[in-house]
Parts: sequence; structure tokens; C-alpha cells
Amino acid sequence: MKSIRLREGKERSVLRHHPWIFHGSILKGGGDAGETVRVESHDGRFLAWAAFSPASSIRARAWSFEEAERIDEAFFDRRLRRAIALRERLAGGGLLASDGVRLVHGEADGLPGLIVDRYGDVLSVQFGSTGTERWRTVIVERLAAITGLSRVYERSDASARGLEGLEPRTGWLKGEGDTELVITEHGRRLGLDVAKGHKTGYYLDQRDNRQRFADLVRSLGCRSVLNCYSYTGGFSVAALAGGATAVTSVDSSEPALAQARRNVEINGLDVAACEFADADVNQYLRDALQAGRRFDAIVLDPPKFAPTAAHAERASRAYKDINRLALMLLSPGGLLLTFSCSGGINADLFHKIVAGAGLDAQVDGYLLQRLEAAPDHPTTICFPEGEYLKGLAIVRV
Ligand code: SAH
Repeated sequence: MKSIRLREGKERSVLRHHPWIFHGSILKGGGDAGETVRVESHDGRFLAWAAFSPASSIRARAWSFEEAERIDEAFFDRRLRRAIALRERLAGGGLLASDGVRLVHGEADGLPGLIVDRYGDVLSVQFGSTGTERWRTVIVERLAAITGLSRVYERSDASARGLEGLEPRTGWLKGEGDTELVITEHGRRLGLDVAKGHKTGYYLDQRDNRQRFADLVRSLGCRSVLNCYSYTGGFSVAALAGGATAVTSVDSSEPALAQARRNVEINGLDVAACEFADADVNQYLRDALQAGRRFDAIVLDPPKFAPTAAHAERASRAYKDINRLALMLLSPGGLLLTFSCSGGINADLFHKIVAGAGLDAQVDGYLLQRLEAAPDHPTTICFPEGEYLKGLAIVRV
């Protein structure tokens, strides 16, 4: 069994069950890509079993902190069953109102780098680390056996795979068929494409925030809605369901907007009440302000501006700018749902950024609610870095 020995003092985060071991913490040792190594303190005490990743600055990711545990097929079976059982319990209680569900959420489920989303009867899988790549066949077989599903699509094309020294890889791993699917979320139908959609096909993490938006649009009587970074129009469909009468979806992806239009149609909602703008949001907001437009509700759900804390400062300015513009575009009493999915920006910092935007816009707002990812995207108490999606629901004073 190969091992890695940490520098003195560097065992602390591993002892707190943090799953990442950075390059700089390692004194000596190593292994092949994805190979299980024994992680030891400077004086040789056992700390964890981890998958080694020779090319990544996250040089190893811990599978287990139990010395007696073996990293074998049975281990993956146990971890996958544990992850899926949590979702079944949540779904049983009505807390996952969708047949699009994240079954495995990487580090939080004790499977660093592995993402598994279920879209109806299709699994969409991403192997984002050398460890998951090495165990891919076992993982796919166990997933199929546990879920009873026979179609598995691979979406290992996230940029993070490059940091692990892995090539992108996509396609059917089991079964085959149409990659265009329809899920039903909170009673609304949403079409997606597991082959061509973003991430594994859809943004399941925003499920409950889309529903919350529908509820708020209805309660507050919002009529005109601007959905910025709309992707395939999940928030737009929610707004129409909530009684909105004029909904503009803005995105820079033409295929996403075409799907947004289809999503309005398959729900029997009024396409004539919709505008789909293929535009840069920043420019769109500036033009709308210039034209004197106002909206009763605005959603800002941008892509990751700050993948890591190193990008936080530049990203903060970008977030502040779009939030300032959006607050200025709100009618009095209007609703803003604003999000950040940047790991490098925590909830407190995001709140400060939006507060700064309000000051610049000279707009105050009631903070109705703090928002986060749906419960099938959990974090663990030992891994705060896993917390990435944060949002605020604000009503303009
Ligand atoms: N709110 C969506 C998810 C948004 S993901 C949902 O609920 O499903 C972010 C989206 O922003 C992507 O669709 C991407 O195409 C779009 N995007 C990225 N940069 C953009 C820009 N500068 N202007 C407009 N859209 C942009």
C-alpha cells in the first residue's frame, strides 16, 4: 500500500475530516492517478484513505477516515446506498418535489468528485476526480444495481476535470436512446438534454427557489418579470405559473432560449406573454435602464464569477454592478431574487456586496429570505467549501 506523509501541523484539517489534501501539505510519498494511498501524519499515524491525484493542487481526496475501512467495491456500494437513501427519505416526505434529483453530491456524500443526477429514468454522471475515474466501472454498475435504472449517460466534461489531468468524456455508459428528456418539478414540466445541456443537463439546485419565486410573484402580485441568465427558463415558467403577464428571459445561449420557449409551451402557458432575448445581461440591464423600463420582479442567477477565493475581488465588483442595475430597474415594491453560485464568495460577503449595490443605487430593500440550494445538494458540517449557492429575496422599499 502506497502512502503520503504530511508535513508537521498539516494533519489538522484531515483530523477535522476535511476531505482535501493540498500539494503543499505533503512531505513525501505518492501514487498513480486515482490510486488509494494511506495518508499519514508527520510521525506516521493513520489519518485517511485517499485517492491520489498527481496533477492537481488538490493532491489527494479522502475516501474514508476509518483505518479499518477498505476502499473496494463494497465501499462504493455502501456510500452510494447511503446517498440515495437520504434522497429517498427526503422524497418520501415530499421535500423533493421533482423526478429530477441529485443522488450524489460529491464530497458531501463521501464520494469526492462524483456527481450523479437522476432525470426521470436516466442517470447523468460526472466523474470529476482521478479517484472516481479509477472506480468508474464499479460506480456505474453499483448505481444501476441500486437504482434499478438501465440508462446512464456520462457528462465528464466540466472544466475542473482538466485540473485533475483528465480528458473530457461524454456519451452513454449504459443503455441508449433519446437524450432529450422531460422532468416534472413542483408540477411544472421542464425539457432538458442530458447530452447538450449545461452541467449534467439542468440546474436542479434552484428547484425550490424557482417554486419560491412562483409563490412570491403570486403573493406580491408581480406582473412584469425579467429573468436574467435564464438558461432554459425555469424561473420564467415559475413566474408565469405565479400569474406574471409579461416575462422576459435573457441569456447569451440561443439553444437555451429555444428550450425556454418550448418549456413555456409544454406547460400550456402563454408564449405571447414572453420575450426571449439573446443578449449579454450586463448590456441588457444598461439598455433597459436607459430606456426607462421597470419590472415588478427580477431574477439574477449568473454563472460562477468566482470559482475560488482568489477571484473574489474582481467577482465582487461584477456582482455589485448587476445588482445595482437590477435594483434600479425594480418598480417600487418590486421583488429581486439574486444569487451567487461562486464557491469563492460566502453568504456574508454576498450580502455585503448586495448591500453596497443598494447604497450605490440609492435603493433600500426588505430582506425577505436567504436562499440556498435544494436539500438534495447538501453540505456536510466538516466541509464548508461545499456550500456554494446562496441567494437573497429582496423587496424594494
Ligand atoms: N437560472 C437558471 C440557471 C442559470 S445558469 C435556471 O434556473 O435553470 C447561468 C446562465 O447564464 C447560463 O444559461 C448561461 O448561458 C448564461 N450566461 C452566462 N453569461 C451570460 C451573460 N454575460 N449574459 C447572458 N447570459 C449569460
